[in-house]
Amino acid sequence: MFPILEAPTFHCRACGKCCSNIQGFAGEAEKQFLLEYGYGKLPLVQLVPVEEMTFPLWEFEAKRFIDFSKELGIDAKIRPYRGVLDLQSNAFIVFNYQMNSKACPFLKQDGKCGIYGKERAFVCNLFPLNRSPFLNVGAPVDKSIFGTCGGLETIPEKLDYKNNEKLISQLYHSFGHTFLAAVQHDFVIEWANHLIVQLMKEKKIRPALNYPREFLAKRIGQARHVDLFEFLIEIEHFTSEEAESTIEKFRSYEHAKERVKQVIGPL
Ligand code: SF4
Ligand code: SF4
Repeated sequence: MFPILEAPTFHCRACGKCCSNIQGFAGEAEKQFLLEYGYGKLPLVQLVPVEEMTFPLWEFEAKRFIDFSKELGIDAKIRPYRGVLDLQSNAFIVFNYQMNSKACPFLKQDGKCGIYGKERAFVCNLFPLNRSPFLNVGAPVDKSIFGTCGGLETIPEKLDYKNNEKLISQLYHSFGHTFLAAVQHDFVIEWANHLIVQLMKEKKIRPALNYPREFLAKRIGQARHVDLFEFLIEIEHFTSEEAESTIEKFRSYEHAKERVKQVIGPL
C-alpha cells in the first residue's frame, strides 16, 4: 500500500460542462494518430471525420442508449462510428456508435443528465479522466489523462506520475468508481484490439486494409452492418451465453477491479 492521503477526493459539481460539448473529446495526439491510421491503414476504421467525433459508445452500450432515447421520446442521433469492414463476409462489424450532436442529447436544460440513475456508458462514468495509466498510448502518463473539469481543483498537481503503482493507488483513492470506469474502458479497448488480431490469425475475418478512404467508405456503405457481439455469435467465436457473460463482465467492471486489486490490494 502507498501513502495516498495527499491526493484529495474528487467531487463532481454536476455542472454538466463535460456533457455540453461532447465533440472534440479526443486529445491532439489521438486525433493525429487517427488521421494517420484511422481511415483505412488499420483494421478498425473511423466512419466519422475527426472534427465530428463525439463520445464513443460500445455497441452493447448504444443498445441501452437507443432504448433510453425511445423512453424519453428524443432523437439521440446514435450512428455507427467505428468498426471493421470484413471482406470475407462483406459485413461492416460495428464496434462503436456515437451520438451525432454537439451537446449530449440526454443533457437537460438545467445541466443535469436526463438518464442519471440509469446504467450509463463508460464514457459518462469515467470523466474527468480521459484514460487510465493502464492504457499504453506510446506517451508518458501525465496530466493529459484528465479532461477539463472545474471539480478537479488541485488533484492533478498532487499525483505522482513517476511512480505508476502509487499513481494507481492515488487515482483509486481520489476517484473511486470513476477511476474503475476509466480502467474498464481501457481494458475493453485492449480486448477489442486483441480480438481483431486473434480473428485475423484464425482466418475468421479478413479486414479491408489500405483502401483509398472514399472507396472504403463506399464499400462500407454497401456492406451489411452487424454489431460486434452478434457477429461473434454468427461466426461461432462465442455462444450466445459466452457473449452475454463477456458483456456482463464488462458492465460490472470485473477486469478493472481485478487490475486495480493486483496493484493496491483488496478494494
Ligand atoms: S465531471 Fe467535472 S465538468 Fe463534468 S459535471 Fe462533474 S464537475 Fe462538471
Ligand atoms: S448520458 Fe448523461 S452523463 Fe452521459 S454524456 Fe449524456 S448527459 Fe453526460
